[in-house]
Amino acid sequence: MQWLNRKALMLEQGAIRAMFDRANTMQDVISMGIGEPDMPTPAPVCEGAALAMEQGFTHYTPNAGTAVLRKAVAEKSYIKDLGYDPAKEIIITNGGMGALSLLFLVILNEGDEVLIQDPQWLNYEAQITYCGGVPVRVPASPEHRFEMQPEDIEKRIGPRTKALLINSPNNPTGSVMSPEALKEIAEIAKRRDILVITDEVYNTLVYGSVPCVSIASFEGMKERTVVINSFSKAFAMTGWRIGFAAGPGEIIGKMTECMENFNSCASSVGQYAALKALDHPELSDEIRSVFSKRRELFLKGLDDIPGIKYIEPAGAFYVFVDIRSFGLSSREFCDRLLDEAGVVWIPGSAFGECGEGFARAAYTCGEEKLRKAVDRVEAFCGKISSERGL
Ligand code: PLP
Repeated sequence: MQWLNRKALMLEQGAIRAMFDRANTMQDVISMGIGEPDMPTPAPVCEGAALAMEQGFTHYTPNAGTAVLRKAVAEKSYIKDLGYDPAKEIIITNGGMGALSLLFLVILNEGDEVLIQDPQWLNYEAQITYCGGVPVRVPASPEHRFEMQPEDIEKRIGPRTKALLINSPNNPTGSVMSPEALKEIAEIAKRRDILVITDEVYNTLVYGSVPCVSIASFEGMKERTVVINSFSKAFAMTGWRIGFAAGPGEIIGKMTECMENFNSCASSVGQYAALKALDHPELSDEIRSVFSKRRELFLKGLDDIPGIKYIEPAGAFYVFVDIRSFGLSSREFCDRLLDEAGVVWIPGSAFGECGEGFARAAYTCGEEKLRKAVDRVEAFCGKISSERGL
């Protein structure tokens, strides 16, 4: 008897986890694979949680999250100008991932399609498929900084298209969509009557001159957009598992009912930590400036490596490194980089077919390690070049 259902049998370990597992068996590895801030959660946030524990806020909260945190998200976070009703239009979730999974559970019927960029963070596909949906990839090219183009989106909209998912700043490319591009996409969504899901978990980590705006802020979009965000990246709070979704009351209400049945609520102590974080936006500015310095250092290091190019990232903490000149597949390149140089980068092909020829490097380690990683990558690239007569 097969105990597992077909969906479970289809689940596979993601390429990122697989790389970690391999790296964990090795000595002296520099990990540039991990997508989380490496610094500790800021002290005031931890103090907020400690106080909550002392005061006994260690029980179930309402399914949608505590009223105070929902109110704070509506009134103090970056979406405050959009006027969300904290009683009906905001839910606190187990991280951004928890928000996405609840959302897919309540919007997807069997066979409904969701448009997703290629290359793109892996987990969306698995979640959509598990919820009966069909992920439809919208190819993006290096010529367009790996940002999907409006005409390519529109071409893929059909009778089963329910939603378009955008993620800016982007994982894995670090690109930030311009307000003009978002406006064009918003027009398509309105014209073709589709829902937009905007995953904005990296929106505090922006370095260039392109302002990072939410597509929900464009005329007529709030009512057809679900904003996903979390405290994970902005406040180095990945382990606290607190995120939120803001969107039409009808959708958020059903997500809340799902939460009641599957999880009850997000962690109570985590919610008090998040409440404190919203009172201290300067803490996420400090994290941003650490990453900004590292970004500069790392890009400068890459500039000096013959054969290496990259898409200049304006956000998040990733660089999508162009390794096409070495003539190896991205998997071969990354496997050998780990085995022969002790550096973890993630093969671009793990993020979709269009990511082939690229590798994702996360500058989520300290400056000293970054310098060492650059030296190792340089020596490795030199070796590959001479081996292949480049
Ligand atoms: N969205 C993107 C694009 C991510 O890269 C991640 C994590 O890596 C998440 C969402 C989920 O983060 P969390 O569940 O910790 O909020």
